[in-house]
Amino acid sequence: MNSHHFDNLIEPAQTTALMKELGLDAKKRFGQNFLIDARVLDKIIKGAEITKDDTVLEIGPGVGTMTQALSRAAGKVIAVEIDKDLIPVLEKTLAGCENVTVVNADIMDVDLCEIAAQAGRPIKVVANLPYYITTPILMKLLEEKVPIESITVMVQKEVAERMQAAPGGKDYGALSLAVQYYCEAEVIAKVPSNCFIPRPGVDSAVIKLTLRKDPRGNAGEEDTEHMFRLIRQSFSQRRKTLSNTLRADASLGISREAVETALSEMGLPADIRGERLSLKQFAELSKRV
Ligand code: SAM
Repeated sequence: MNSHHFDNLIEPAQTTALMKELGLDAKKRFGQNFLIDARVLDKIIKGAEITKDDTVLEIGPGVGTMTQALSRAAGKVIAVEIDKDLIPVLEKTLAGCENVTVVNADIMDVDLCEIAAQAGRPIKVVANLPYYITTPILMKLLEEKVPIESITVMVQKEVAERMQAAPGGKDYGALSLAVQYYCEAEVIAKVPSNCFIPRPGVDSAVIKLTLRKDPRGNAGEEDTEHMFRLIRQSFSQRRKTLSNTLRADASLGISREAVETALSEMGLPADIRGERLSLKQFAELSKRV
């Protein structure tokens, strides 16, 4: 195999040829849909505002399509790929990319603070995320207090909508609240399914999350961890009232009466559900119970 032919995998013909030559099949269980659209890739790289001073964490490099572009733009790239069968492929497609380190691991097991510490400054995360595990990955990035400047990711269109959802609708939940608390969010591209091989069954969007410098206290909360435990529990059974779901988690140690008193003092009905509360109201409730 001549690696020369695989130096710009964003060209659909190169990705197809690579997969054919190596007998590669995209694995559904790992959410493998490889990007083959140069305009979308360009929007991601430009949107992420990567410079040679940056260390970029890429989650799921796949065959290395985006990694090749990141390598050209960034100072250093750390690419974490779960699929061990793709490691020898990445060795070939990234042969000329001296500033890329590939790590064969599940991103959920990786110590992200250690990676960021090596960078010496807040890192930028860029990824075409595997859709089966998008929310857990984003929650990990946001809640582990990793020094991150921005997260530019391809996600399912519906997930991008959930991140920006306002209280009251079915899209609103713990992910919306976490994203809105920690970040400013902006959709930078809408991406139809024909931009991938194989085509996913859903439309996608690229969303850029810019992390706030000091989110603590931005909702008026006193204890961020307590507020998010309460938020998580509030959405664990969406159809129940807040006073019922919150007392169901004994580890929170909150009684039904405490919730009802707090709600009434806040001027809210006793049978309200979590999906109606804004971030500020969750902060207020968290202080009171
Ligand atoms: N970045 C490539 C591209 O844009 O063409 C591939 C994107 S594909 C949607 C998602 C990638 O994430 C796949 O390569 C998949 O094997 C990898 N992946 C899936 N689950 C993962 C996990 N838990 N940790 C690390 N990588 C994972």
